[in-house]
Amino acid sequence: METGSPPRLRIGSGFDIHPVSSDPTRPLVLGGVEISSGFGLLGHSDADVVCHSVADAVLGAVGLGGIGDHFPDDDPSFSGANSLILLSRCVQMVAERGWRIINADVTVIAQKPRLSGFLREISSSVSLTISAPVTVKAKSPERVGALGENLGMVALSSALLWQP
Ligand SMILES: [Zn+2]
Repeated sequence: METGSPPRLRIGSGFDIHPVSSDPTRPLVLGGVEISSGFGLLGHSDADVVCHSVADAVLGAVGLGGIGDHFPDDDPSFSGANSLILLSRCVQMVAERGWRIINADVTVIAQKPRLSGFLREISSSVSLTISAPVTVKAKSPERVGALGENLGMVALSSALLWQP
C-alpha cells in the first residue's frame, strides 16, 4: 500500500439454502461441525450451508462468482465433499489474487435444532479455515413458511476483504 493511499476494501455477500433430508442417517454439518439433531440436509456435498454461504461471500467480494461456479454440483468428484476443504480452496483462490479476509459474519436461519450451544464451535471452525475472525448467529424463522416447518435451512454471510 502506498503511503497515504487508502487500502483496497471489498465486501461480499453469500446466501445458501438446502432442504432437510428425509434420510435419517444423514448428518447435519454446519461450519464443519457435526450436530446431533436427528436430521441432516440434502445436497451433493455435505450440504454445509454455513461453509457454502461464507464461500460465496468471499468469492463474490472479489468478483469470482460463487462456489457453484468452481465446484459444480453435477461433478461426481464433489459428492459428499467436506465443505471446509471447498471453503479453504476458495480462500486460496482469493489469496492467489492478493486478497486477504478481514472478517466474516454469518446468520443461520433454522427452526430446528436450537443452535445456541454450537455457535462458538462453528465460528472457531470456520475462523480456522478462513484465517480470519468469524461470528455466527442463529435466528428462528418463528414457524413462518417453509423454513418454519423445518423443510430447509438457510445461511446468509458477509465477508470483508482487503488487498494490501
Ligand atoms: Zn450449499
